[in-house]
Amino acid sequence: MTTEGAPAEAQALLAALGVPAERLVGGPATRTPITGETLAEPRLADAPALDAAIGRASAAFENWREVPAPRRGELVRLFGEELRRSKAELGRLVTLEAGKIVSEGLGEVQEMIDVCDFAVGLSRQLYGLTIATERPDHRMMETWRPLGVVGVISAFNFPVAVWAWNAALALVCGNAVVWKPSEKTPLTALATQALFERAAAEFGDAPDGLSSVALGGRDLGERLVDDARVALVSATGSTAMGRAVGPRVAARFGRSLLELGGNNAAIVRPSADLDLTLRAVAFSAMGTAGQRCTTLRRLFVHGEVYDSLLPRLRQAYASVAIGDPREPGVLVGPLIDGDAFSAMGRALERARLAGATVSGGERVEGPGGAEAFYVRPALVEIAEHAGPALEETFAPILYVLRCDDLDEAIALNNAVPQGLASAIFTNDLREAERFLSARGSDCGIVNVNIGPSGAEIGGAFGGEKETGGGRESGSDSWKAYMRRATNTVNYGATLPLAQGVRFDID
Ligand code: NAD
Repeated sequence: MTTEGAPAEAQALLAALGVPAERLVGGPATRTPITGETLAEPRLADAPALDAAIGRASAAFENWREVPAPRRGELVRLFGEELRRSKAELGRLVTLEAGKIVSEGLGEVQEMIDVCDFAVGLSRQLYGLTIATERPDHRMMETWRPLGVVGVISAFNFPVAVWAWNAALALVCGNAVVWKPSEKTPLTALATQALFERAAAEFGDAPDGLSSVALGGRDLGERLVDDARVALVSATGSTAMGRAVGPRVAARFGRSLLELGGNNAAIVRPSADLDLTLRAVAFSAMGTAGQRCTTLRRLFVHGEVYDSLLPRLRQAYASVAIGDPREPGVLVGPLIDGDAFSAMGRALERARLAGATVSGGERVEGPGGAEAFYVRPALVEIAEHAGPALEETFAPILYVLRCDDLDEAIALNNAVPQGLASAIFTNDLREAERFLSARGSDCGIVNVNIGPSGAEIGGAFGGEKETGGGRESGSDSWKAYMRRATNTVNYGATLPLAQGVRFDID
């Protein structure tokens, strides 16, 4: 495909994906981080438009909850088919709008397809337990019921997959969905909605407003969060956002699912396969230009292997291909914007002042001149686990520390509040099992001999600790989108009462 003319290409992709041209004018500019050019100016939703969308979703829920779950799965299956047909176009739009390399843009759409498949199977497996009851001639069981309207707030760095993790499950569980995507990535959201509408048309009788998109910024997100008709708010983004959203939803006794930031670590032990470790570390730390919630940001290396690993890692950092994410061979595309570049610069400056040795971190020329922000990933060797190493800076910075003692390395892994993903590189079974055990890593994702970044949709994903503990996607995450009822049926002729209780009833 061409590497020229991002705006024209985006317009062509949006048309092919079924986004009406009139939705793409009248609002603020959406720029591609690749060149800084404006791709479109999609119109934003105002408060009455959001109010109407939630109203339509509430009405749709009344109908949808009565549709048998496997039939609800059929809608999600059809949506998965639409995604398969349009994978190339939607993946390419992800690249243009979020700046991801081509394979990652396509990979994100593949995740959407995978979670649709998962949800279709799930639509026949929303099982409840039958529980042994202590009362004679009684049966006790659990049933799972949909919640109502699910509000999804998503981050720029997974502009479409995060919504799909939520929506595919929410829909088979019998809920309606209102989506407020990141203000930085509205176009891929409109395209996803257009594909959903194609699937709904083929399905035939999906209620109007079952799934909708409301474009806007933080203000609109706050309105969604505060609306009592929204039973579950699933919000993905920074820890700062989660701190604001969590208490607001709790104040109205709503339910929230928070998927927040990650300051992820890996431990390298003397027995590690260093070739494998090097590849895993380089990819996890530099891929997606450090803009993944699971990006590797801290590395604790045993002294016995430090001097063999670090020179090779420095070489990988110095030679990695940085530039236009549409070009083959490029691993590191642009940062999302100038603010991300400034935040990276500030973190590196603090590290330097604290005595760290910094290699990389400088701005690199890309295809877009002053309006696009390309950087060489930074390797920061530190003597003390402190300062910016304790924070998530959403950019490619890897802090490296020598650490010999495994218990100390595990303690450092666990010493940040954002415990999302973690890894150990070792061929020592005892070390691996210790890291996986109750006294090991306290993160939501705990890996052995594989980097922390990325996750499969089959597992529950999201985080623990300060990240809100939200788990989306696979495993039994579906339970977050439903409420549990315990049902007891008395099929006998007597009503067991507490000992000594009597009624005089004629
Ligand atoms: P962000 O927090 O700036 O914005 C995320 C979304 O929240 C946007 O849609 C934004 O409009 C909205 N928002 C912000 N403040 C809000 C408020 N007070 N009320 C309601 N909505 C509000 O995050 P970002 O820069 O778009 O994304 C990067 C962050 O997301 C990183 O911290 C990354 O680790 C995290 N992330 C986490 C996961 C996960 O699954 N744990 C996945 C992807 C990204």
